[in-house]
Amino acid sequence: MPTLASAIETMTPEQRQQRGEQLKQDGIVIKTYDLWKTYIMGDQEIHAVSGVDIEIKRGEYVAIMGPSGSGKSTLMNLIGCLDTPTKGLYYLNGKLASDMEDDELARIRNKEIGFVFQTFNLLARASALHNVELPLIYAGVPTGERLERAKETMRAVDLEARMHHKPNELSGGQRQRVAIARALVNRPSILLADEPTGALDTNTGNEIMALFERLHRQGNTIVLVTHETDIALHAHRVIYIRDGKVERDEAVSR
Ligand code: ADP
Ligand code: MG
Repeated sequence: MPTLASAIETMTPEQRQQRGEQLKQDGIVIKTYDLWKTYIMGDQEIHAVSGVDIEIKRGEYVAIMGPSGSGKSTLMNLIGCLDTPTKGLYYLNGKLASDMEDDELARIRNKEIGFVFQTFNLLARASALHNVELPLIYAGVPTGERLERAKETMRAVDLEARMHHKPNELSGGQRQRVAIARALVNRPSILLADEPTGALDTNTGNEIMALFERLHRQGNTIVLVTHETDIALHAHRVIYIRDGKVERDEAVSR
């Protein structure tokens, strides 16, 4: 009996495309089949991600959790289309991202993914509003609509009153909310957050987690990457990663 992964690998391009369409119809935004990322270091092979099968549906709020070095960032880079796998298939919103070249990958990334990082990564010299507007400028949205949508997204993260402040005039929590607004403004299919509370104190971190919960209730799909159990348990499902493999995949009971 061939395994599912090997059956997938022998599919024709048409069958692969049909599979993607089926996944999209079924509301599955993220689907990986036997995903691998192997780094070569001298004469050593490091399997940072080794045979990962995950499925995430539209509207889910999932944490990817594991100790340092377990492969979380590598997996996040694959899911976020920042990198391509050594082996295996990855469907993002019905499209086979694992087959894409760099320019196509950049396009799907800009359209489908909103990133939130530990260190906010805001433009220091630009106002909060302008930071949030930037993805819309890249997407070619006309000025009027751009401003309207950026303001609306600032409201969604309760930062309307701080719109014209620059990042250094904002607290850490406020900066992260600007970064979250920037991630959301393009209405991505998934919000992908890597240790979003890592640079914040506990109380501020909890405020950010409360915001994620609200965004989830409003229908956003959220994937949160963290090494902290306390943070992971804010999600509604936790995928535990160890040595590049899925160790457990569980709903969080409340
Ligand atoms: P985590 O984010 O869970 O800490 P990473 O995905 O960063 O884990 O790393 C997983 C493993 O892959 C580690 O052993 C790490 O040293 C290795 N690794 C990550 N990136 C590279 C790279 N660019 N080159 C070589 N090895 C890497
Ligand atoms: Mg990491």
